[in-house]
Amino acid sequence: MLYGRMPAPVRVRIAPSPTGDPHVGTAYIALFNYVFAKKHGGQFVLRIEDTDQTRARADSEQMIFEALRWCGLSWDEGPDVGGPYGPYRQSERSAIYRDHANILLDKGAAYRCFCTEDRLAKLRVQQQAMKASRFGYDRHCRDLDPADARARAAAGEPHVIRLKMPVEGTIAFTDMLRKEPVVREAAESDDQVLLKSDGMPTYHLANVVDDHLMKISHVVRAEEWISSTQKHVVLYDAFGWEKPQFAHMPLLRNADKSKISKRKNPVSINYYRDTGIFPQALLNFLATMGWSFGGDREKFTLDEMVSVFSWDRISLGGPVFDLAKLQHLNEQYLHEMSNEQLADALVAWRLNRDFLTRVVPLVRTRIKKLDEFLPRAEFVFTGDVDYTPVMTELRGACGQDVPAERLSAALLDFVERFEAREGFAAPALEELGRTWAEANGWKVGQAFMLLRIATTGRTASPGLFETMVVIGKEIVRRRIRQCAALLAPPKAPKAK
Ligand code: GLU
Repeated sequence: MLYGRMPAPVRVRIAPSPTGDPHVGTAYIALFNYVFAKKHGGQFVLRIEDTDQTRARADSEQMIFEALRWCGLSWDEGPDVGGPYGPYRQSERSAIYRDHANILLDKGAAYRCFCTEDRLAKLRVQQQAMKASRFGYDRHCRDLDPADARARAAAGEPHVIRLKMPVEGTIAFTDMLRKEPVVREAAESDDQVLLKSDGMPTYHLANVVDDHLMKISHVVRAEEWISSTQKHVVLYDAFGWEKPQFAHMPLLRNADKSKISKRKNPVSINYYRDTGIFPQALLNFLATMGWSFGGDREKFTLDEMVSVFSWDRISLGGPVFDLAKLQHLNEQYLHEMSNEQLADALVAWRLNRDFLTRVVPLVRTRIKKLDEFLPRAEFVFTGDVDYTPVMTELRGACGQDVPAERLSAALLDFVERFEAREGFAAPALEELGRTWAEANGWKVGQAFMLLRIATTGRTASPGLFETMVVIGKEIVRRRIRQCAALLAPPKAPKAK
């Protein structure tokens, strides 16, 4: 017979929202969850948080699976592999969240709020005008009689369900990576919406309910969620549930210490895959972001990381995502490979039949002999482009009098336009290109020349949009951004 409490088995998760390209930040957090689970013989769960249907993108979930698998991180439970605590996609769990919101109503820990959008908008204006000491919801419905509120809801009156946050005292929780508890004045918090008027949960309700029902023992996520955790601990208490342990990892940063962003660094995992970074180098690099192996060792394998892993080697200062450092690590991996391994890596990357079959239609009518293929298709196999030889053409692409700043802004605008769409297919890109040319008041031929030079570094290329698709969205994005920066270097912040 065993006495005392057995430590709970380690169960961790990542919970990405499928809202865009698979982000290096997701791989970063996945890595630490994965390593911690492996270290303790636990389970690593992948849950898709897709309750915000306005932001969810159909192709994004699949890209997340593929990108994480490419990195070499696999999960024990998830939407695609199943598991005992499914479904693992939040959009398939709506009934569970509704039931749990009702539990909180019954306990008196939450309330129905009938305030209209119009009332809330007026409230915001008023608070701003009065320079109120506290912004946010004024708890207007908090003290409605629950029986009346139930009757109004039954009669079909639209409403949301809000959490009763404490109005005084402090909210505190402990974090495995911080010596001091994280504390905040309760009065600063709003009565968080848990269930929206369409019956869908907010992130907070769904996240806490799932972490509890999926028996997550440790919530390891990025620092930016700390203020959410303050609400989550109130929710755990309201349900009467034991809380998981929390670890909020430092945010990856650009060189200027701002939060990593695609304007300053490529953030899609696919960019690194497409430019021939090795997955083991990317993981190794991410592992050094805020965590140290010990000594000054920078290069190590995933298994080696698992064997020495502990949280006390995390330091919280914002680690800088330094591309040069990643490339340096990659170089070391590359030089260590045998010729056979390197040849295999090239084949796995782009020198394979599948990929060549996509390049061939672009250039086949432009070559007479096979030895012309690579020179013709070279821009498909390179990462960054050297614009020096085409600088005059680039500057003059849309007319001699168009200032470089305008060309630069238009290029960035083109990127924004394709980012805002799902997929990356030639017909849609072409349509987008035409609208964009028109919006700039440029002839289509001129505008497309600007795009052609920016994406290929050449004034002549195969079909522009077909070429973009084969080069790949990530590399196209990076090249256009670099070309825009070359035309009009981003302004350095003014010295004080
Ligand atoms: N859905 C959140 C995200 O997009 C999950 C945050 C968490 O791990 O709780 O990252």
